[in-house]
Amino acid sequence: MLLINDISFQYDDGDGFAIENLNLSVQSGEFITILGPNGSGKSTLLGLILGNLNPRTGEIVFQDKPYSQYSKRGLAQKISFVPQRYYSVFPFSVFEIVMMGRTPYLNSLGFEKQTDIQTVNDALKEVGIYHLRNKSINSISGGEAQRAFIARALVQEPELILLDEPNAHLDLEHQISIFELLKKLNIENRVTIIVVSHDLNLAGLLWFSNNSNAERRNIFR
Ligand code: ADP
Ligand code: MG
Repeated sequence: MLLINDISFQYDDGDGFAIENLNLSVQSGEFITILGPNGSGKSTLLGLILGNLNPRTGEIVFQDKPYSQYSKRGLAQKISFVPQRYYSVFPFSVFEIVMMGRTPYLNSLGFEKQTDIQTVNDALKEVGIYHLRNKSINSISGGEAQRAFIARALVQEPELILLDEPNAHLDLEHQISIFELLKKLNIENRVTIIVVSHDLNLAGLLWFSNNSNAERRNIFR
């Protein structure tokens, strides 16, 4: 599905941080966790996969087509992103935040159709926060906001979802329930998922829950 082919990257005004000769191949249906300490380049890598940053050398290929052949809108219909943390100055409602995910499908005037409203309502139900749809994003809990952003990612109808530290700022119980939701989306909705995290606990959780019993048994052989 996704092929990162020997890419290098540096920020123009960076402090010397560089990604060099990075290769990664992601198959459709996979659930991948990429681990690394703070400052190791995880968010940068997601920026590259989202097409927000451009590699200096090498190329990224999605479904056999290099990124240079995708429009921003075209890529946004395939890949969506759940940010690490979000502060809104304007008190958007949960419904409005999730509707923003429909942007790649709206017409040039940005008018939403009945199907867009239906898609948003369905996603809100899917992640379990339909009852919060009229609340301000600033007045709900961290775990609920995380669900709102997963819903926003879902209504983009992506084939790949990227999550930046989805466990940050959540207590263990909410980390597990967010993870269970991601697992469900991966298995039932067949969405490919890439999570980046610096948290080894989450990685362990993902690893053990994400493998079938047979695979899990293999680990202990
Ligand atoms: P992580 O997500 O693993 O914590 P980042 O990808 O955010 O790491 O950062 C990797 C390195 O790139 C750090 O040294 C950081 O300071 C630097 N960096 C991140 N964003 C920018 C930017 N927009 N401009 C310049 N340097 C940046
Ligand atoms: Mg980061």
